[in-house]
Amino acid sequence: MPLMEPYRIKVVEPIPITTRAEREHAMADAGYNPFNLRADQVTIDLLSDSGTGAISAEQQAAGTRGDESYAGARSYYRFREVIADLTSYPHFFPVHQGRAAERILFSALLKPGQVSISNTHFDTTRANVELLGCTARDLPCPEAKNLDGDFPFKGDIDLVQLERILGEPGAGNVGVVVMTITNNGGGGQPVSMANLRAARDICRRYGVPYFLDAARFAENAWLVTQREPGYANVSPREVAEEAFALADGCVASLKKDGIVHMGGIVAMRDPELAKRCELLLIAGEGFTTYGGLSGRELDMLAQGLLEVTDPAYLGARAAQTSHLAQLVADAGVDIVRPPGIHALYLNAGRLLPHLPPRLFPGHALATELYLAGGVRCAELGSLYLGEIDDDGELQRPAPYELVRLAIPRRVYTQSHLEYVAETLAQIAKRPERVPGYRLVESPPILRHFKCRLEQVPADAR
Ligand SMILES: *Cc1c(COP(=O)(O)O)cnc(C)c1O
Repeated sequence: MPLMEPYRIKVVEPIPITTRAEREHAMADAGYNPFNLRADQVTIDLLSDSGTGAISAEQQAAGTRGDESYAGARSYYRFREVIADLTSYPHFFPVHQGRAAERILFSALLKPGQVSISNTHFDTTRANVELLGCTARDLPCPEAKNLDGDFPFKGDIDLVQLERILGEPGAGNVGVVVMTITNNGGGGQPVSMANLRAARDICRRYGVPYFLDAARFAENAWLVTQREPGYANVSPREVAEEAFALADGCVASLKKDGIVHMGGIVAMRDPELAKRCELLLIAGEGFTTYGGLSGRELDMLAQGLLEVTDPAYLGARAAQTSHLAQLVADAGVDIVRPPGIHALYLNAGRLLPHLPPRLFPGHALATELYLAGGVRCAELGSLYLGEIDDDGELQRPAPYELVRLAIPRRVYTQSHLEYVAETLAQIAKRPERVPGYRLVESPPILRHFKCRLEQVPADAR
């Protein structure tokens, strides 16, 4: 059967169609920072796949059934049933989003001075570790360093390093190991079941709690069925259940694979840990049976978690990303290979060799995608990850200059993504015309969200 979206459209939302002059105006007003654009100035919004998915008719119906009782709402028990069935964890709490789950878990689990180890900490995960006076240490597998390599599980943790660190004297200082599935920081790459299992065995041997950051558990499961020997005939749902079963618990932003606009979860096996988490939950999020979410959201979430592991849905979503990856390759633009599911990462540094890192080539490409076609996306390069001094000068560049095209769930059709590829292809025909940027306002924290920039014309470089 040819690949196509396994749903039809029932409710539509017009998208703004703008002129180049309007976009130039809007971008200048936004200080050349896509985060400062208004959504009604954006034609195709690929800034994030978080909380941006389209809900189904069944989710809408479930939302209508939402029970807004303060305590013990029916919605909570429906949510409970779905989570218990999927994860096998005896204790779990709803939270408003992933970072709340991280704050609660780490506050209950870590003592100041301890270390958290991960394949790669997501940025809020790292922040929540560091805010407790702890250290976050990333151990991506060696294959992840080669952007062009086609190793199927570049999200894996480096098992040799993990074993070495946990075996060292003083390793009692490692308070948790967190496996991020898929590995968002590492380009949305999946983690194999073999790696999840081996890391679990090492953690068990040294008595270290082993948790998942499971924001994209279903997408990871799909890629396992496609890429890992022995899993071709296993359903994504069964793979997901197996992954959860391996760990001592999880944190998850359910704004991704929960396909809801807001929601998250923190879950665990240890009843004592659960008690400590529950206190933090009630103090900071809400009572045990709603944790910062409305009954409506809990019910929509329960339904979304049933839909997300449907092979027809996952297969079509993965095919959509692969199709875009092929069109991008045809346009002569390199990506982080192999393509994952939730996003494509464009190698802007390679496309724009005339721009040194200090002129932010990743940012330049992201800005150009907006100017050329109203496509909004985010830089993952020196502007976000580099070391920048108080005068806005780049002191240490990021290892790569990337641009992330994140793909919202069930929102855009194949023709929308073909439009994105065509916009990129136009830019790639004359990449030397893309101008660089310099910072004119650079707040000391959350720089990439709030900074303002100006164009550096070609003759001023
Ligand atoms: C989004 C995300 C988070 C944080 O979740 P929020 O819902 O944005 O707070 C944590 N880890 C990973 C891997 C994520 O993708």
